Amino acid sequence: MSEKKWVYLFKEVDQAEDYAGSWDGVRTLLGGKGANLAQMSKIGVPVPPGFTITTEACIAYQDDHTFPEGMWDQTMEALKVVEEQTDKKFGDPSNPLLVSCRSGAKMSMPGMMDTVLNLGLNDETAEGMVKLTENERFVYDSYRRLIQMFGSVVLGISDEEFEEVLDSFKEEKGAEQDTDLDADDLKELTEKFKAVVKEAKGFDFPQDPIKQLELATKAVFDSWNARRAIDYRRRANIPDDLGTAVNIVTMVFGNMGWNSGTGVAFTRNPSTGEKILYGDYLMNAQGEDVVAGIRNTKPIREMKEELPEVYEQFQQITKNLEEHYYDMQDVEFTIENGKLWMLQTRTGKRTAQAAIKIAVDMSNEGLIDKETAVMRVEPEQVNQMLHPQFDSETIEAARNEGKLFATGVNASPGAAVGQVYFDADKAEEMAEDEGQDVIMVRPFTKPDDVHGMLASKGILTSEGGATSHAAVVARQFGVPCVVGASMMSIDADKRLMKSNSKTVKEGEWISLDGGTGEAFIGKLELTEPNLEEQEELMTLLTWADEIARLQVWANADYPKDAQRARIFGAKGIGLCRTEHMFFEEERLPYVQEMILNADEAQNSINNVERLEGFIESGKLNGQAMTDDTRKDIEGELAEAKKKLEGSEAANAYYNALDNLLPSQRSDFYGLFEAMDGYPVIIRLIDPPLHEFLPSVEDLLVEVTQMRTKGETKGLEEKEMMLEAVNKLHESNPMMGLRGIRLGIVYPDIMRMQVRAIFEAASDAAKKGIDVKPEIMIPLTGHINELKHVQPELEAIAKKVMEEKGVDFTYKFGTMIEIPRAALTAGEIAEVTEFFSFGTNDLTQMTFGYSRDDAERNFLITYVDEGILPQNPFQVLDRKGVGRLMDIAVSEGRKVRPDLEVGICGEHGGEPSSIEFCHLVGNNYVSCSPFRVPVARLAAAQAKIKND
Ligand code: PEP
Ligand code: MG
Repeated sequence: MSEKKWVYLFKEVDQAEDYAGSWDGVRTLLGGKGANLAQMSKIGVPVPPGFTITTEACIAYQDDHTFPEGMWDQTMEALKVVEEQTDKKFGDPSNPLLVSCRSGAKMSMPGMMDTVLNLGLNDETAEGMVKLTENERFVYDSYRRLIQMFGSVVLGISDEEFEEVLDSFKEEKGAEQDTDLDADDLKELTEKFKAVVKEAKGFDFPQDPIKQLELATKAVFDSWNARRAIDYRRRANIPDDLGTAVNIVTMVFGNMGWNSGTGVAFTRNPSTGEKILYGDYLMNAQGEDVVAGIRNTKPIREMKEELPEVYEQFQQITKNLEEHYYDMQDVEFTIENGKLWMLQTRTGKRTAQAAIKIAVDMSNEGLIDKETAVMRVEPEQVNQMLHPQFDSETIEAARNEGKLFATGVNASPGAAVGQVYFDADKAEEMAEDEGQDVIMVRPFTKPDDVHGMLASKGILTSEGGATSHAAVVARQFGVPCVVGASMMSIDADKRLMKSNSKTVKEGEWISLDGGTGEAFIGKLELTEPNLEEQEELMTLLTWADEIARLQVWANADYPKDAQRARIFGAKGIGLCRTEHMFFEEERLPYVQEMILNADEAQNSINNVERLEGFIESGKLNGQAMTDDTRKDIEGELAEAKKKLEGSEAANAYYNALDNLLPSQRSDFYGLFEAMDGYPVIIRLIDPPLHEFLPSVEDLLVEVTQMRTKGETKGLEEKEMMLEAVNKLHESNPMMGLRGIRLGIVYPDIMRMQVRAIFEAASDAAKKGIDVKPEIMIPLTGHINELKHVQPELEAIAKKVMEEKGVDFTYKFGTMIEIPRAALTAGEIAEVTEFFSFGTNDLTQMTFGYSRDDAERNFLITYVDEGILPQNPFQVLDRKGVGRLMDIAVSEGRKVRPDLEVGICGEHGGEPSSIEFCHLVGNNYVSCSPFRVPVARLAAAQAKIKND
C-alpha cells in the first residue's frame, strides 16, 4: 500500500483533484487558501513557491497532538523542492530561504486562526541575509517581527508584552512610526524581544529553523480549536470537523524598502458592489500591518500614481482571477522590490447590497448565468435589504442639529441605534443578559472581539480601513459598521469617547449609519426602505420568479398588507385570517354580543331548521311521515318560530351578525381590489371564542373588587360576562371549540362570513375587478365535518351571485392542520378543491407541543441540548410533519389531480421549509408580506438545487 499523502506542492494541484474527486473536494483537502494558491500558480499568476499540509493531517493531529506518520518526512521533502524552485536553502546562512506558515480552512475564517511569517530567521541566517540584501534594516525588521509573532502565536506570550517594549523603545528613540526606526534600532529591538521570550518562557527563542517550522505548524493546527475559531464556526455554521490546512510559502517581502509594499484588495467594492478595485496598501510593510488596521493605509487607487506599472499588472491579474473564479475576489499581494506577488485569493465576503449587485452585474456582463446569480445571494441577505434605514431627511436634520459625532469609512451599510460599550465582553453581556441594543466601540477589533461584534447592532472604530478586521467581519454578518473615525478618541479607562467637542459615555445612545460612515449622538428614527427603488434586487427577484416552480403568496388580513405584499411580488393571498378584523375597536362589542348569545340563539335557530328539514323532506327518522305526525311537527315549528322571534338572545345574535357583515364585506372588497387578477384565500373563523372576551382572571379581580367596595354600577354586566366566559372555558382551547367545529355548532357565523365574501366579490366583479375568491375552512379532521358544513356554504355563494347577477369562478378548500386530515387526505380531496397546510397547528399536533408554551418551557432547551436539530415551529420538521404533508399531497392528488396545494403556516417564509414545499409539489407558499422577497429567492433556489 502506498503511503498516505499528507503534503501537496502547489504544482501538484491536479493530483489533489484526482484524489479529492472535485474542486470542492480539493478545497476540503487543501483549504480555500491552499487550493487557490495552487490554482493561481497553475493559471500563471505570480505566486511564491510553496506547499500545503492537508486538513486530513490536521484532523489526525487533533487525536493526540502529534503529527500523523509520514507527514513530517513529506514536509521535509516538499521543502527541498521549494529550495530547488527558489534556489535558496532553509537555514543556510549563505543563501537562506524564509517561509511563512499560514492557516487556511475550507471556509474562510478571517483572522480567526494563526499564521507565522519569516520562519527560518535566526542569528546566523539574519547576518547572511544582511550580506545578500545589503539591507540590514529590513533583515532586523523581519527578525523582530518573527520573534514577536512566534512568541505570541506559538509560545503563547501576550502581544502586549512585545508592544509595551516596542512603545517605550520608540519613545526612547523619539520615533513616531515603526518606519522611523533605523537598522541599529531594529537590531537592538530584536535583542529586547528575545529577552521578552526568555523572561516569559525561561528558554531562548529557538534558533533551529526546522524546530521553528515544526512548532509553528503545530500552533496552526491547534488554532483550529481556539475559542474564537469555535465561536466563529458556530455563528457561520461551519462544521467543527473540517480542520485547517497549513500552507508553507516562500516569503516575499513588502518591508524591503520604499520600493516594496503590501496590501489587500477586493476586485469589486464589497460594501456596495460597485465594479471598482477596492482596498488598501502600505509601502514598506508586512501583510499583518494592513489587515490589523493598526497603521493608516492608503486607498488602492493611489497605487496607480505611485507604482503605475505594478498597478496595471495588478488590475490585469484581478480581472483574470474574476474570469477564472466567476466571482468577486479578495486578494492579498506583496510587492518585493517592484515585483508583484499574489499571496492569496478567495471569494470575497460582501454585504447583502453588494452580493445582490455583484450577482446581477456579473450576469449582465456574461460572466455567470441567471441561475448562478440567483444562487449567489443568501435569502437572509434579501431580508437585510428590507431592514430599516435612516432616510436622508433624518440624517440631514441630525447634521443640522449638531448631532454628528464622528465620521469614518462606511465599511458595512445599514442603520443601527444602540447603547455604547467599549469592550467585547461588556457588549455581549449587555446585549444577551440585559437585552439591550448595543453598539460596540473600539480603537480597532481583533479576532478575540468577535463575540462582542456579533452581539452588537453596530460597530464603530477609530482606526483601520475598509479592509480592517472590523470591516471584514461586520460585512460578513451584515452588522452596520463605521471604521477609522480617527477624529474620535476613546478613553477605555474612563469608559467614554470624545469627538467634535462632544463626549459620549458608556451606556449612552448613538446612531450609526454604515452607508454614509457617520455616527450621531442619540437615537435617530428608522424608516423602512423602498423595495421598488432597489433596482438590482428587483431584477434578481424577477429572475427568481422566472426560475421558480413554486409561487409565493402572502398572508395578509388587511388591504394595506395585501398592497404591500403585491409590491413585494406576491402572486396571491394564501391566508386572510378573518377573525383578526374582529379585534378592531368598533367591532369587538358586536363580536362579544355574537359570542355571548350564540349558544342560546343557535339552539333556537337549529331547532327551527331541524323541524323545517323534516317538513321539507317529508321524513322523520328516515321514515315517511304520516299526516298526523306532519301536523304535529308543523305545530311544533310554528311554536319554535314564535319562540325564535321573541328570543332576546337570537335577536342580539342576529343584530351582531348583521352589524359585522358590512364591515367584513368592505374588508374583503379591499382585498379583492388590491389583488385584482390574483387568488385571495379567505379563511373562515378559526380561534376559540374566548380569545375575543376578557380573561376570567381579570374579570374575577374586577368583580371581587367591585363587590368589596360596594360598587353596583356596571356590576351586573361584569357578572354576566364572567358567567359567560366561565361557560366557554375549556381546558385545552387550542384543541377545543374552534375552526370547522364552530361552523357546525354556530353555523350562522360562517354563513355570515361567506355571504360577506361573495357580496364583496360580486360588487368588485361588477366594477371590473378580476376576482378569484377561495374560501378556506380551518381545522378539518374528518371528512364528515366538511360534508356537514361545505355544501350549505356553497349554496350561499351561489345564491349571492344570483342575487347580484354576476358569475365568477371560486374555490372551496380546507386547511390541513390535523394529522388525521393529512392521513385521510384522499377522502378530503373528494370534497375540497384545495389544501393549505397550516403547519403551525400541524406541528403543534404532530409533536404534541403547545405552540403557545413550548418555547418558554422546554423547546429552547431541546434545541440548545441538540435533542432537536431546530425549533420545529421555525424550520419545518421534514421527517414527521413533512411526511404527513407528503402523504396528504400524494393521496389528495390521486383523487383530484389538479388539487391546489399551499402552505400558510409560519414555515412558508423560511428557506429550508420552502425547499421542502417545492419537493412535495406544493403550488405555492404563503408568508407574511415582508418575507415575500426572501421566499421568492428561496423558491428559485429550491428549484435550481433540486431539479
Ligand atoms: C396554522 O396553523 O399554520 C395557521 C396558519 O393557522 P393559525 O396560525 O391561524 O392557527
Ligand atoms: Mg391553524
